Amino acid sequence: MAEGASIFDHSKPGDQVLAVSYGSGAYANATWFEVQDGIEEKRGRTPTVEDYVKRKTTIRIETYQDLIRVRLSRIKQRLEIPRFVGEVEPTNGRAFTLSLCQGCERIYYPAREKCLDSECVGVMDVKTYPLIARLKTVSKLPLKKRFTSNFELLGQDKVLFVDAKLQDLKPGAKLEGVVRRLDYEGKDGLIMYGVAYRPLFREALAQVARPKAMTVAPPQYA
Ligand SMILES: [Zn+2]
Repeated sequence: MAEGASIFDHSKPGDQVLAVSYGSGAYANATWFEVQDGIEEKRGRTPTVEDYVKRKTTIRIETYQDLIRVRLSRIKQRLEIPRFVGEVEPTNGRAFTLSLCQGCERIYYPAREKCLDSECVGVMDVKTYPLIARLKTVSKLPLKKRFTSNFELLGQDKVLFVDAKLQDLKPGAKLEGVVRRLDYEGKDGLIMYGVAYRPLFREALAQVARPKAMTVAPPQYA
């Protein structure tokens, strides 16, 4: 995916792009793209792959090995990763809509009207979260509270902060909402996605003028 995105960062309308994935040998996909004119106007709405690469943090191999070890143990991961939580306020009108099932405590993004579990009769609590937000409050959950579920946090109108150190999270700081995996399995092996916030990175995306809706002539009646 990243390689494909990187090619499209530099491709011109009319270019032919053959993308073939490979890796463990389990399977490979090949897809052929023909770049269309629309790519020019979409360019600049998001950072390029190179922008993301430049933003990298170098980690030592030992750190990476530790990370893998941590990932192998869900419980351990939850304990070791500091959880910053807090409240945010919107800065513009664009928003994510999530629904929280009060029956089975699943989080749904995109929002759903009904729970995916056919036996669950839980009421859906629909919540909106701003795409670009300003930080109001932040706190680091004490060790014994790190098990506080994301469902519980969202239910208390709190959000989770990611990709940030505590010093980046000052009241008033501009944040952007990102879609993250908020739970690993739900009750039936579902992966739950939802919104979390990080310091604003995709400034270009935030500033781009959205195309205005077309004006449609009002219907006329004789
Ligand atoms: Zn449910």
